[in-house]
Amino acid sequence: MIVQVKRRLRKKRIVILGGGFGGVYAAIHLEKLLARQSAVEISLVSRDNFFLFTPMLHEIAASDLEITNIVNPLRKLLRKVEVLVGEVNEIDLPNKRVLISRGYRNHSQEIDYDHLVIALGSITNFYDILGLIDLAVPMKSLRDAIQLRAQILRHLEEANFECNPAERQSLLTFVVAGGGFAGVETVAALNDFVREALPFYPALGEDMLRVMLVHSGRAILPELGESLGRYSEKVLEKRFHHCFASVCKGARPITRKRILASSRLAQRVGRGGLCVCAGHQKSG
Ligand SMILES: Cc1cc2nc3c(=O)[nH]c(=O)nc-3n(C[C@H](O)[C@H](O)[C@H](O)COP(=O)(O)OP(=O)(O)OC[C@H]3O[C@@H](n4cnc5c(N)ncnc54)[C@H](O)[C@@H]3O)c2cc1C
Repeated sequence: MIVQVKRRLRKKRIVILGGGFGGVYAAIHLEKLLARQSAVEISLVSRDNFFLFTPMLHEIAASDLEITNIVNPLRKLLRKVEVLVGEVNEIDLPNKRVLISRGYRNHSQEIDYDHLVIALGSITNFYDILGLIDLAVPMKSLRDAIQLRAQILRHLEEANFECNPAERQSLLTFVVAGGGFAGVETVAALNDFVREALPFYPALGEDMLRVMLVHSGRAILPELGESLGRYSEKVLEKRFHHCFASVCKGARPITRKRILASSRLAQRVGRGGLCVCAGHQKSG
């Protein structure tokens, strides 16, 4: 009898995992939908306490925007949702609970739910390409974009005092892997950033710079169709001058893997060039 009374009083709990596009928009929608439902509570668990607008991430890497322009605090966005900042470690479906860890000391916490929304996003797919996972900078999080910007500047600084032409060439070679939206936007932003910075480095000239985009499909930007993809290739080629390369078009995965392993991509990365992986993503 007592148990029944408790159950009737207990609020239904919706737990949303992930504070990206999926999680935040689900929370905003549910917040509105259930505004008059006092018997329902919504909690959102995410690694960071902010929402990141990924389509503008490349602009952080290229110093076109400040960080605060592309992040929005979750607590500001979601006034009626309980925000829990922490790492989701385990989802226990049979017992309807989620195990998370929080804070510097990794405090463990169990969260019970009645309904669960999983919106934890994806991880970068390196396609098992040799060297890429160890050497490339991914382009997915705010930290990645900040790291990329710092690394580009480090390369310019080092190239400016490097006397060995081969080493300097290597330092001034930038390869972006992946010709989807993220890769194309990143390579264009990187190209503009480096070219605008070059006049401040007296020992460096534009002729020393090599910027490449490596893509495995028939044309870049497959989401836009082949003719627009080819048009974008031409526009990029003009901006990079002669330094645009699109390799192993349409190759089977195994062939592509071999070509890439022995191509300029691996060689440049191995010799100190900078490679950014903005490849397609796979579910995490
Ligand atoms: C550089 C870049 C540019 C892009 N440009 C475009 C574009 O122009 N147009 C477009 O439509 N799409 C674009 N995308 C793709 C778009 O960002 C994704 O489709 C979208 O973010 C997917 O939303 P999501 O909620 O599934 O995942 P995400 O937005 O990645 O959100 C996942 C959330 O879960 C959190 N999380 C993950 N694991 C854990 C864990 N274990 N514990 C706690 N929290 C966790 C993450 O911190 C994150 O907050 C771009 C992506 C990138 C990387």
